Amino acid sequence: MKCIYCEENSTRVVDTREAEDKVRRRRECKNCGRRFTTYETAEKLELTVVKRDKENEKFQEEKVRNGVERAANKTSITDEEVEEIVEEVKSMLRGRKKIEAEKIGEKVKEELQKRDKVAYIRFASVYDSFEDVESFQKEVKALKED
Ligand SMILES: [Zn+2]
Repeated sequence: MKCIYCEENSTRVVDTREAEDKVRRRRECKNCGRRFTTYETAEKLELTVVKRDKENEKFQEEKVRNGVERAANKTSITDEEVEEIVEEVKSMLRGRKKIEAEKIGEKVKEELQKRDKVAYIRFASVYDSFEDVESFQKEVKALKED
């Protein structure tokens, strides 16, 4: 998100508070150091996620965010980018009633890969969306080569 003071695109979230249907975020600009507050209205996406074992569950945004956060921990990925990725996933889901968990995983991987390879590998290994160990190793090898 752009800083409202200097317009530099380098803010980080310093505090997040959820209240009823709103999320309040305190942000700090890495460029000018000033802080400001944003409010986000939670948009509830109601859809069914079909897991690999064919079991259904309700889509939970927090689950996606937690997964991304875990993968992004101590990488170059900022809190802002975590939110961006969550938003990318949500925009893919809008208007749908059902989606395979795997597709969500693929989307997250795609977004992580664009930003940070360590986070990408971490996510990919945790989510085990690779068919088998061999294809996972192939992927790792391919990353090392470029
Ligand atoms: Zn600023």
